[in-house]
Amino acid sequence: MKESRSCNYDLELYRKVREGVSMQQVVEYFGLKVNKKGWCTCPFHADKKPSLKVYPNGKGYYCFSCGAGGDLIKFAAQYQNVSNYEAAKGLAAAFQIPIQEPVTYREKREAALTRKRRQELSVFQRRAKMWLMVYRSLLCEAIREQGEHFWEGLGSLTYVDYLLDCLEQCPEKVYADKKVVKKIGEVERRVIGWYSSTGGYRAISG
Ligand SMILES: [Zn+2]
Repeated sequence: MKESRSCNYDLELYRKVREGVSMQQVVEYFGLKVNKKGWCTCPFHADKKPSLKVYPNGKGYYCFSCGAGGDLIKFAAQYQNVSNYEAAKGLAAAFQIPIQEPVTYREKREAALTRKRRQELSVFQRRAKMWLMVYRSLLCEAIREQGEHFWEGLGSLTYVDYLLDCLEQCPEKVYADKKVVKKIGEVERRVIGWYSSTGGYRAISG
């Protein structure tokens, strides 16, 4: 780990920011006007008429011209050309969302883990990465096709990317977080459900 903050802390920050501020508030915070039907001009391409849709209830945004889309943290990151983490910190400060500082006892406790645990970790990491990557490609396809899983794509893609980042940078922290492990289990079941609901026309490889 390059920095002292943990991925648990990042995920907690993202969750709090997503709960503490609406998509429309974020768009307006950056000086863009959202019309009554939820459209605004897209800041990510040279847009003349509003092509960017701002969806209510935390669903995110999508530009029907250039395909930019995601959740409110992604919007802030893309708009300012900064990382998701920087964007989330900035939004938390701007909207006065209280965020918890990282704790250190967890690091100490983890230092006592056995070799067996490290082996389990490596199995977990490979398996989780595979399911997340498969899920990610399904979500990207769903967004492109604007079909029945479009919402799920917009709502989940950024989160899946956070998880993949964390899994890459500090897998031990992901593995130690029961909530995140449960979430990855849900992703696994979701992918299986997805294939069975679409008739299983492709085999899962990897
Ligand atoms: Zn656009």
